[in-house]
Amino acid sequence: MAYDPQNIFAKILRGEIPCIKLYEDEHTLSFMDIMPQADGHALVIPKEGAETLLELSDDSAAACIKTAKKVAAAVKKAMDAPGIVIFQLNGAAAGQTVPHYHVHVLPSSLGAMGKGHASKMEDQAKLQAIAEKIRAAF
Ligand code: 5GP
Repeated sequence: MAYDPQNIFAKILRGEIPCIKLYEDEHTLSFMDIMPQADGHALVIPKEGAETLLELSDDSAAACIKTAKKVAAAVKKAMDAPGIVIFQLNGAAAGQTVPHYHVHVLPSSLGAMGKGHASKMEDQAKLQAIAEKIRAAF
């Protein structure tokens, strides 16, 4: 399917809607997930417009993993997490809800993720406070 430039992450990249930013470089952006599955749930997205891993360029895919590794280290430290889960969904049939490629970075383990996927908006002040701790851990 053709990439939809009106998706929510494309709007975040263009600065049309806000996000709680954790990290940015030439090719990627990382920010807090607005409906976290665990405290410290972060997202990493490429600046390139691609819906899934299958359309993403190899360079952007590599840049996303590089950033996910940086963010994972910061999340682990900031949240004092015993482990880190990294996952990403490709296509609505796989459960992808935002059609711009992204990597999920979560503290702890799948078993400890009490909250459902993209199910409940988090309090913004709480997200800001957690983001502050993660940014300080880079
Ligand atoms: P997906 O289901 O596509 O793998 O994941 C999309 C993720 O984006 C979900 O975890 C959901 O909570 C998050 N999300 C959806 N809309 C927004 C938004 O407007 N801002 C932020 N920061 N996260 C969002």
